[in-house]
Amino acid sequence: MSRMRIDILTLFPDTVSAVLHESIIGRAAKKGVVEINCVQIRDFTENKQNQVDDYPYGGGWGCVMMAQPLKSCLDSVMSTVEPVRRSRVIYLSPQGQPYTQETAKRLRRDYDHLVLVCGHYEGVDERFIEACVDEEISLGDFVLTGGEIAAMAVADSVCRLVPGVLSDEQCYIGESHWDGLLEYPQYTRPEVWEGREVPEVLLGGDHEKVEKWRRKQQFLRTARKRPDLFEKLDPADEGDRKLLAEVKRGAGNVMLTDPVTCRPAASDDLPAILAIVDEARASLKKLRVDQWQGPYPAEQHFRFDLEREELHVILHGEEIAAFFTLSTREEKSYESITDGKWTEGKQAAVLHRCAVAKKYRGSGVAEKLMRFVDEQTLDLGLNCVRTDTHKKNKPMQALLRKCGYRYRGNLTVVVEPGHDTARQGYEKIIKVRK
Ligand code: SAM
Repeated sequence: MSRMRIDILTLFPDTVSAVLHESIIGRAAKKGVVEINCVQIRDFTENKQNQVDDYPYGGGWGCVMMAQPLKSCLDSVMSTVEPVRRSRVIYLSPQGQPYTQETAKRLRRDYDHLVLVCGHYEGVDERFIEACVDEEISLGDFVLTGGEIAAMAVADSVCRLVPGVLSDEQCYIGESHWDGLLEYPQYTRPEVWEGREVPEVLLGGDHEKVEKWRRKQQFLRTARKRPDLFEKLDPADEGDRKLLAEVKRGAGNVMLTDPVTCRPAASDDLPAILAIVDEARASLKKLRVDQWQGPYPAEQHFRFDLEREELHVILHGEEIAAFFTLSTREEKSYESITDGKWTEGKQAAVLHRCAVAKKYRGSGVAEKLMRFVDEQTLDLGLNCVRTDTHKKNKPMQALLRKCGYRYRGNLTVVVEPGHDTARQGYEKIIKVRK
């Protein structure tokens, strides 16, 4: 197919041309990858006043663009088009089909010549539309004063799909709306801006992890920002299908947009903390983890933690997203460790209770919680944290390992009657970076 040619029929050719001959599309036009001509409709009038519009038959407000100058302008353009070209005449109109990336792809794929007709005033004589227009395209369900902004949007979005306009086709594949998804969040320097950090995964240099994270973010964002698009998703790729199912299961997953901070809990925080406990209890049951079933832990346990200033909340902006209790109390049961041992000679802080609110699962808050646990441990003058987890609590074990904890052996913890007492002991020696 030959290079893309776009003719824009308008009453404001200089304005449209100035915009489209700037920046990326302008450079592509200079290179000859695309050709964009802006043609003055007024030059084709057949009256002395160069009048392009007139009063509407039947009366009513405003003027209507006459068919003749539009048709003469179109004929003039078409007389310069090579017969091999596949042309499409499009009238930009609030009555047209809403414009989408799919339309841009179709126009780029099926045609190499577009004529974009910009109306003005009250619109154009209906007979011109009937006689000459192949399709009507709307920029959205609102009314502009003229078709120029819509024509520029169509020209720009089609041209950027033409090979040679962007440096690589990867530039637009993966962008919002390419495959029904929105794009993942993007960041540039600095790493921390006004207390907001760039997600850690993007700094590690592991391309596979970055790709996985980005793809998941695409699903998460689409679910959150455009549930209408999310509803329609039906990916063919097996990995995408899994991601879709995962995001659907965790519907309500939030993205961290505000700073995540940690502070000691206050008694006012108790209702929010107990709500997280209830959620955790309900969903952990599904994972067959009995640690949080029944009445334990209850309000009195958190009051106990509060009194000792051991309870901390993790905030996303102002909202409590998670909590943890860290103490320096000796854990008697930790002496019962079998088939392994704790690191000798270490006084340890003990991570007792922690949970992430359901809607924050999968958002990265758990890893941040673990980092706050490290910081808090260092603040206590220690560099060792111990904790125990139920044998069946695989998600917690995975999180602990991911955050640098090591399995040290099995132990027996007596909590409340009726609970399985068998636990696994995990320990982390915090390496302090100089
Ligand atoms: N009277 C027309 C109607 O109600 O359908 C609207 C005319 S509008 C004020 C003038 C011109 O702006 C139209 O001829 C069309 O070219 C352009 N225009 C307005 N809204 C548009 C939209 N949402 N998408 C594309 N073009 C639009």
